[in-house]
Amino acid sequence: MKQENIPYKIYLEESEMPKSWYNMRADMKNKPAPLMNPGTHQPMTFEELRGVFCDDLVRQELDNDTAFIEIPETIRNFYKMYRPSPLVRAYCLEEKLQTPAKIYYKFEGNNTSGSHKLNSAIAQAYYAKKQGLKGVTTETGAGQWGTALAMACAYLDLDCKVYMVKVSYEQKPFRREVMRTYGASVVPSPSETTEVGRRILAQHPGTTGSLGCAISEAVEVATTNEGYRYVLGSVLSQVLLHQSVIGLETKIAMDKYGIVPDMIIGCAGGGSNLGGLIAPFMGEKLRGEKDYRIIAVEPASCPSFTRGKFAYDFCDTGMICPLAKMYTLGSGFIPSPNHAGGLRFHGMSTVLSQLYHDGYMEATSVEQTSVFDAAEMFARAEGILPAPESSHAIRVAIDEALKCKETGEEKTILFGLTGTGYFDMVAYEKYHNGEMTDQIPTDADLQVGFDGIPKFPGNEF
Ligand SMILES: *Cc1c(COP(=O)(O)O)cnc(C)c1O
Repeated sequence: MKQENIPYKIYLEESEMPKSWYNMRADMKNKPAPLMNPGTHQPMTFEELRGVFCDDLVRQELDNDTAFIEIPETIRNFYKMYRPSPLVRAYCLEEKLQTPAKIYYKFEGNNTSGSHKLNSAIAQAYYAKKQGLKGVTTETGAGQWGTALAMACAYLDLDCKVYMVKVSYEQKPFRREVMRTYGASVVPSPSETTEVGRRILAQHPGTTGSLGCAISEAVEVATTNEGYRYVLGSVLSQVLLHQSVIGLETKIAMDKYGIVPDMIIGCAGGGSNLGGLIAPFMGEKLRGEKDYRIIAVEPASCPSFTRGKFAYDFCDTGMICPLAKMYTLGSGFIPSPNHAGGLRFHGMSTVLSQLYHDGYMEATSVEQTSVFDAAEMFARAEGILPAPESSHAIRVAIDEALKCKETGEEKTILFGLTGTGYFDMVAYEKYHNGEMTDQIPTDADLQVGFDGIPKFPGNEF
């Protein structure tokens, strides 16, 4: 094994943990386009949004100017239960690959929910509690977000109603039971419990659901029940803000040892972990202080960045949410049931979409079987059993490290290891049995989704 002055794991002292989140939007010259009212085509106002989200979170959502927002003490105390998360030097993986590259990963899987989602769940639950609400509603795809939110709500004694994408509800009964252990109620989506769910079931009998459907149901329940608001685990700018704790910790740890990444790689579903990991680095890039290669990795089965359109679109299948300007496959796009449940969303963060559009970051897509090849190699080398979502980033990190082997370059690669895959063993089983396929939508498949993107003046794509 290579001998260097860098420890295998870099931890921070409690006193070194970030006290504020960082809002990349403050340093963007081209701000992300505002959320738009689908009826009036005007930017959503505070008053309109506060019926859906709690007030402080609406303020964060609309704030394009404040660079640092203090992390309330209750949230910082909760973070201390599972943070700081380790920044790991992947010495064992480097050895296995025989690469001169230096590989680091920030590991967010060391909490019961098993992913980075807890960073935003506790923040959103906190602001709901502060406002005196009874509870929150949400959707969950693979189950990580629902689990994280259930944990956060249990901690703060809030009610939690989760609409879980049906395919995951059936494939991941254990996740469902973890949520119920933390006191959440869990309904498979689409369901008969909401108007929009009944409509979607009538239009698509036998559908296995999608995040877009589940969002519509959760929003309907939040807006029709007194004392409830809706919370979302990704995509929104407020979620990227909360997730900046990942990047801030990483930056502090790297600065301590004088490590400067050449490239930063993360998987992208709705963009929250990637947006969080890159935040302080992107800030330097936006201010012209430093340059980094930043790479978003998405599944070839749900290629929002690499094959999507940059346009205003609905965030949900039921078309009841505001329009967001983002890279999108169309809110009617229902991806094939690929196993990276957390990466099945049709759209993308408006912040990352604008940054990608402006050339501040790259994107690439990878196929499922090659993702699991990487996952297995990583598990055997580094010991951690990675989530399928995280393994998209692992795939590209390994590929970049192998390129360094060809060229002899000692590049420093940083990637986000967003979570563990213990609840994804059905997918691993398919992979081991050789039953996993790579489903890539054809241009005609994608066109069906694009046809559903709303058309109005100024929304040409
Ligand atoms: C939800 C999830 C993702 C993808 O969501 P982003 O908002 O794009 O970060 C990635 N990895 C894991 C483990 C997840 O749970």
